Amino acid sequence: MSAAPAAPAEQKLDFDPDALREKYRAERDKRLRSDGEAQYLEMSGRFAHYNEDDPYVAPGFTRAPLTDEIDVAVIGGGFSGLLAGARLKEAGVKNFRIIEAGGDFGGTWYWNRYPGAQCDIESYCYLPLLEELNYIPKEKYSYVTEIFEHSQRIGREYGLYDVTCFQTRVTSIDWDGASKRWIVSSNRKDRMKARFVIMALGPASRPKLPGIPGIDDFEGHSFHTSRWDYAYTGGDTNGGMTKLGDKRVAIIGTGATAIQCVPFVAKYAKQLYVFQRTPSSVDLRGNRPTDPEWVKTLKPGWQRARRENFAGILTGQTFEEDLVNDGWTDIFRNVLALPKSDKPMTPEEIGRTMELADFRKMNGIRARVDNTVAHKPTAESLKPWYRQFCKRPTFNDEYLPAFNQPNVELVDVSAARGVERITKKGVVANGHEYEVDCIIYASGFEISTEFRRRVGLEINGEGGKSLFDHWADGFRTLHGFSTRGFPNWFYIGISQNALSVNMTAMFDEQARHIAYVIKETQARQGKTVQPTQEAQDAWVELISKLQLNNRAFLEACTPGYYNNEGTVRAGLGAGTYTPGINAFNALLQEWREQGEMKGLEIGT
Ligand code: NDP
Repeated sequence: MSAAPAAPAEQKLDFDPDALREKYRAERDKRLRSDGEAQYLEMSGRFAHYNEDDPYVAPGFTRAPLTDEIDVAVIGGGFSGLLAGARLKEAGVKNFRIIEAGGDFGGTWYWNRYPGAQCDIESYCYLPLLEELNYIPKEKYSYVTEIFEHSQRIGREYGLYDVTCFQTRVTSIDWDGASKRWIVSSNRKDRMKARFVIMALGPASRPKLPGIPGIDDFEGHSFHTSRWDYAYTGGDTNGGMTKLGDKRVAIIGTGATAIQCVPFVAKYAKQLYVFQRTPSSVDLRGNRPTDPEWVKTLKPGWQRARRENFAGILTGQTFEEDLVNDGWTDIFRNVLALPKSDKPMTPEEIGRTMELADFRKMNGIRARVDNTVAHKPTAESLKPWYRQFCKRPTFNDEYLPAFNQPNVELVDVSAARGVERITKKGVVANGHEYEVDCIIYASGFEISTEFRRRVGLEINGEGGKSLFDHWADGFRTLHGFSTRGFPNWFYIGISQNALSVNMTAMFDEQARHIAYVIKETQARQGKTVQPTQEAQDAWVELISKLQLNNRAFLEACTPGYYNNEGTVRAGLGAGTYTPGINAFNALLQEWREQGEMKGLEIGT
């Protein structure tokens, strides 16, 4: 009897899966810290200035506090707030106000103007309202200037500047049961009254600092990447940072942000030290100008179709053509999609097939490092040893070559689980003090930390109950947007809805849906709207049935915000609607078409 033929995935392996698995485990263990997410410092108290100082506005802005009444308060003027504004207008809801901490629209793209800042989702999918505004991005991947300008364009074209309070941070919202309104308080001593509130904060609006001992002691200059200090560096987001010519600079962190700004600092600084704990996976960028001939071929509805094609491929749907055809869709086609098979695969076969595809993909990423970085020990340190979705994949063509420059040094701090200490003169790592003039923290955001911490404002509903206590054991919502006990309160973001890497497409459908609910409530003379207990319970149950069972995957990963720094408290994507964004949007559309406001209780 002959042996059974090897499954296609098992044939011709030019690597040893067991050895790779063991290497991944060792690299994870090396980095696990007992303090998990608590290792990071919140930007409050003595660190508040890292977050609250706005380098883009003139100091001294004042205005009288607002105590007036509006129908809707939209908190946040990034893309989710802009989309809420645009969709409210389209729905005919006129009396609303956007409240925004920054001095202009843009949200993450207002704050993150670090050199080289760029969106790694294709611009034709990412930038919202392209057809409505008849705008085509200049390149396949837009840089921050174009993205920021586009947010201003939305503000202008939809008349949103007239209804926005800039430079205003909401500090709390409190439900007033007597007037059936939210009291919206801010750092400008406002106490606005709003019938409805839409939270449009964005998932990365609160930066965080690494909890490195001595961080207060540094006597040089320091800032977080999301508040780039061009007064210090010179230049702007396109470069020109000539003031760094005589400066020794440390960048701490090597996530998606650092990958983009390192090549620019490398170009201008006298000396750059990049302190790396875990390397990013850096794949090909391949940006290119928009082809005018392609633009001529676009038919009405093209942006929605493209977004659905992109999202569909990322959730395993089959399409005749991969319209975006980039690094993201490559990962999904080659790592997450299963090969066609005559007989159904067992869960073990599926797991093994996907693991092998992942090993192959990451071997390619590691080979790219070897082919680019000349100094062998540096190349070794730059290789990521984990599965592709343990961390946010990155795409850049200038990052790795920067390490071939004589003024750039990679300092691998993985052995000590991070930078050891900051002194008044610089950064201590591996027992050596690196004296620097400036420290730039590329240390990320409160994306998956505890909900209270990442939201950064108080939310008190019926009976003064805090939302954070209400959700202490996890989200309880209908469709991810609203929760019982918090009437007229809507949340745009990552909750019990479908997650997409193309955040703006996700926010747009959420905004559209919330605008519909508000319009319908008003049309029915309702003063309040909130989910019924039954509808909410049913949605929570559905989500818990559908939710991604990726705990084992995340536990095997090097720590980061995707796995709550290794603790896998919830994990990114936990509790989301796993059939995917296209299925979720279809479900919402059908719900709206039924016209019954099913599962919502309207109070008069
Ligand atoms: P990340 O959270 O991805 O990175 C933080 C970095 O700081 C990590 O490299 C981390 O190391 C490092 N770090 C933290 N503490 C220490 C320490 N004590 N010593 C040394 N290093 C330390 O933040 P980013 O700002 O880079 O990215 C956040 C997210 O923002 C991205 O994942 C992405 O979602 C989004 N983004 C999107 C872009 C886009 O193109 N659309 C562009 C930029 C950002 P370790 O990995 O070991 O924890």
